[in-house]
Parts: sequence; structure tokens; C-alpha cells
Amino acid sequence: GKRAPLLSVRGVKTYYGNIIALKGVDLDVHEGEIVTLIGANGAGKSTLMMTIFGSPRAREGRITYAGQDITRVPTHHIARMSIAQSPEGRRIFPRMTVYENLQMGASVNGGTHFKEDLDRVCDLFPRLRERLYQRGGTMSGGEQQMLAIARALMSRPRLLMLDEPSLGLAPLIVKQIFSVVKELNERDGMTVFLVEQNAYHALKLAHRGYVMVTGTITMTGTGRELLENPQVQAAYLEGG
Ligand code: ATP
Repeated sequence: GKRAPLLSVRGVKTYYGNIIALKGVDLDVHEGEIVTLIGANGAGKSTLMMTIFGSPRAREGRITYAGQDITRVPTHHIARMSIAQSPEGRRIFPRMTVYENLQMGASVNGGTHFKEDLDRVCDLFPRLRERLYQRGGTMSGGEQQMLAIARALMSRPRLLMLDEPSLGLAPLIVKQIFSVVKELNERDGMTVFLVEQNAYHALKLAHRGYVMVTGTITMTGTGRELLENPQVQAAYLEGG
């Protein structure tokens, strides 16, 4: 049989008060894959990512990671289970320097290998090396996004979850960021779960994708299958 997925989501329902945001979601991410979740504004993509991280909690269903049921595991424990998240809106620490932000990322795993990992993320994002002692909040949007991803990488995650890394960024920066994600996957075998509204770039990059419409997965397939799917093209690619 097939190997068990690294991350598995089954029948997950999440509510905000009485309003249902996820209506029974099934999704798998296998080791070594880039999987993307696309969908319009308000579809529930961020909610799924946050539910995997334990806040808000799934009211029904099951989430397993590396063979462990994490459905009811508190967020601060999940953060120590080799899942790293770069949340939407790139929540870096604006008053801290780039260097200090990266230290915070490393602290999750005890801060061993700090120098080595700092070097590695600065090789991936040379802009950060030039700006190590600049305050995070004074960096450009693209630089802050690079910092948010670099900070997530400092914990040496087995699963990297990115929420809309392309949001509000110039096309050239988007290309740079996506090529780093590709390199991480190809060179280091990093498993990536990518939430994106930029469907074209996300589907080109991903091995597999899921389409979410108002809290429900409506389609899944390889990145290429979804790119070539007329419904996906009409809804998410044309003019976009
Ligand atoms: P976007 O791409 O715009 O971020 P999304 O697909 O990530 O959209 P979510 O942010 O997950 O969508 O939102 C899903 C639904 O849940 C929306 O209707 C949203 O208004 C609602 N929602 C999100 N967060 C909350 C909250 N804290 N309280 C109440 N409702 C919320």
C-alpha cells in the first residue's frame, strides 16, 4: 500500500461562533510534496491552515501529523512538532532586527545549529544578509515576506506551511520567493503546504493542488491537471 501522508485532514469542520467556515475538509500532504490550496477570498484557506495549527480548533474531524493525532493538541505544542508556519500578513516582529527575528525562529528547536542555519537562509535570501541589523518593520513588503519564510526555516521544519506568501508583492519578488520554495523542495526534500490566491504560480509550482469554495474542497489533482482544467481556468486563472 501507499505510505501514510505526513499531514492528513479528515472531515474537518471549523466554526466561528455559530458560523461554519470549514464544512468537512479532506486533504493530504505527503512527505516531499508541494501541495497548494487555492480559492477565492473568504473561501476558508487561512482557516484551514490555522485549524491545522490548533487555533481555532476543529469542532469535528481529525488531523494527523507524522502519525500522531494533533486535532486537540495545543498550538504551542504543535509549533514544537517540526511544523513551521509563515502566517498571512507576514507577522514578523517589527521592532526586532532581522537577526533577532531569525533568532526567535531558531529558538523553537533550542537554537542549536544557529550559525549554520543563519548562513543557509541568508544564502537563500541574500537581501537578508545585507540587512541583518535593520529593524524588521522598516523592511519592504517583499523583504518582510522573505524574513517571515526565513524565520520559519530557522526551526528546521519537516513541514513548511505558507499562507499567501505572494500577497501584495511585485511579480519579480513573487518569482524569487516561489523559486526559493522550489529549491527547498528539490534540494532538501522539504515538504510544503502553500495557501495561495495566486493560482497560476501556485499550481505551476505544486505537485498537487486543492480548490476550496466556501469551506468545501471542490476539486483536486496534480498542479498541471488543475492548470489545464477549464473550470479552474475560468474561475481562478483568466485575467488573473
Ligand atoms: P483570504 O484569501 O481573503 O484570506 P481565506 O480563504 O483565507 O480568504 P478565511 O480567512 O479562512 O478565508 O475566512 C473564511 C471565512 O471565515 C470568511 O467568511 C471569514 O469572514 C470568516 N472568518 C475568518 N476569521 C474569522 C473570525 N476570527 N471570526 C469570524 N469569522 C471569521
